[in-house]
Amino acid sequence: KDEVNIISGALELRKKTVVDVMTKIEDVFMLDYEAVLDFETVSEIMKSGYSRVPVFEGNRQNIVTMLYIKDLAFVDPDDNTPLKTLCQFYQNPCNFVFEDVTLDVMFKIFKEGNKGHMAFVHRVNNEGEGDPFYETIGIITLEDVIEELIQAEIMDE
Ligand code: ADP
Repeated sequence: KDEVNIISGALELRKKTVVDVMTKIEDVFMLDYEAVLDFETVSEIMKSGYSRVPVFEGNRQNIVTMLYIKDLAFVDPDDNTPLKTLCQFYQNPCNFVFEDVTLDVMFKIFKEGNKGHMAFVHRVNNEGEGDPFYETIGIITLEDVIEELIQAEIMDE
């Protein structure tokens, strides 16, 4: 039964796109670039349980970098370190994909590994009067793709 699921899951990867399985931007746990890593903020990050936290500047659609929880290893909450300082030190890159990328292609990108296992999902917004612009509408991780492949939820620890 599992094998049949995986085979049909693998075939489905070509039909589904990133937008179908991503986590929507409004549901993403993020930090403001101007945040201070005080006790309250660090506790909140730990409570969220995520291993990667996108960092935005100005508005939530403007993602500028990513914080890995492991980057917090040498941070003492009593120092009130600005998040900015840490971001400038680590400069973790962000990867972007378009919403219409199919999951088989996304899986290949994640497998190659040089771009990390999370990507931000872009949409071209050409509504309204002004020039078209890129909008960030969600995040996708390797786990989201694998869940489609095995057609089951992965329970997080
Ligand atoms: P983690 O290692 O943090 O558990 P995973 O890559 O295993 O993250 O992803 C687990 C699920 O959580 C996926 O559905 C992914 O889209 C979502 N996810 C990952 N990071 C965040 C975040 N910062 N905020 C909200 N959802 C997230």
